[in-house]
Amino acid sequence: MEREQYLAAIKPRMPEKRYIHTIGVMETAIALAQKYGEDVKKAETAAILHDIAKYADIEWMERIVRDEHLDSRLIGWGSELLHGPVGAYIAQSEFGITDEELLNAIRFHTTGRAGMSRLEKIIFVADMIEPNRRFDGVDRLRKKAQKNLDKAISACVRHTLAFLIDTKQPIYPLSIECYNDIMNREDSEG
Ligand code: GDP
Ligand code: FE
Ligand code: FE
Repeated sequence: MEREQYLAAIKPRMPEKRYIHTIGVMETAIALAQKYGEDVKKAETAAILHDIAKYADIEWMERIVRDEHLDSRLIGWGSELLHGPVGAYIAQSEFGITDEELLNAIRFHTTGRAGMSRLEKIIFVADMIEPNRRFDGVDRLRKKAQKNLDKAISACVRHTLAFLIDTKQPIYPLSIECYNDIMNREDSEG
């Protein structure tokens, strides 16, 4: 499928604001893919589809987790944690996407995970720094993304975890595994 077809497919499934965010993620992900030598078309498609499940019914999403044997820890965490894995399921079942790298970029875009691929990092970072995002520190993250993808993902993950701790929210196991993996790599790089 081409960009315009994907965009037409996602538009009715989300409010205008989320669609504008998605366009921002798409443009940012394409630029990062070009900069870091990733498949631009894959980055474009993953970005367009990354939040496709954001407004799906939570009970339906939990049913998908059970029926499709997705990560059972997801049950009870709410739609913020469900929409990545369920989004990957929709990409596969409705759009016929079979590329595991592309599906993983959608699946892990909220939490990250240990051993993220370059495409996963690009979608995670693009989601946080796209031009419509406004929060303290976003400009520093944008600058890092222009310089070094690994430093950018490290800063983005630390920013998200710091925010979750500040706001007293529980941290999903994959988010912690992602953080530990990044810190261990940075440590071994000196
Ligand atoms: P969005 O879908 O474009 O809004 O962005 P994300 O998919 O990256 O994040 C959705 C929400 O999930 C944000 O509010 C994050 O703060 C939140 N989130 C990310 N990781 C975790 C986590 O480990 N635990 C909890 N409770 N929330 C998380
Ligand atoms: Fe999301
Ligand atoms: Fe998003």
